[in-house]
Amino acid sequence: MNGEPGTGGTEERCVDLVEQLTAYLDGTLPVEERRRIEQHLERCEGCRTALAQWRTVVRLAGRLTTADVADVDPLLRDRLMATFLEARRR
Ligand SMILES: [Zn+2]
Repeated sequence: MNGEPGTGGTEERCVDLVEQLTAYLDGTLPVEERRRIEQHLERCEGCRTALAQWRTVVRLAGRLTTADVADVDPLLRDRLMATFLEARRR
């Protein structure tokens, strides 16, 4: 119960996970964070799928454009692209 809107529940939040995927794939996350993500991935098929697709996208594209991720599931793509663009803006 951390009071953040729109994410509810006691489970690890998928939103947080997606935001950390790029760092996770870069290997820049601390060990505890990586472990937390991996534990979540074991329970959450949606995030496993997202990670697998994201991995493919990163490997193929290096530099992302909308066209590069055209074959990714549209819902995931929108979410991942938004997250990726946001992360870049920081
Ligand atoms: Zn998840």
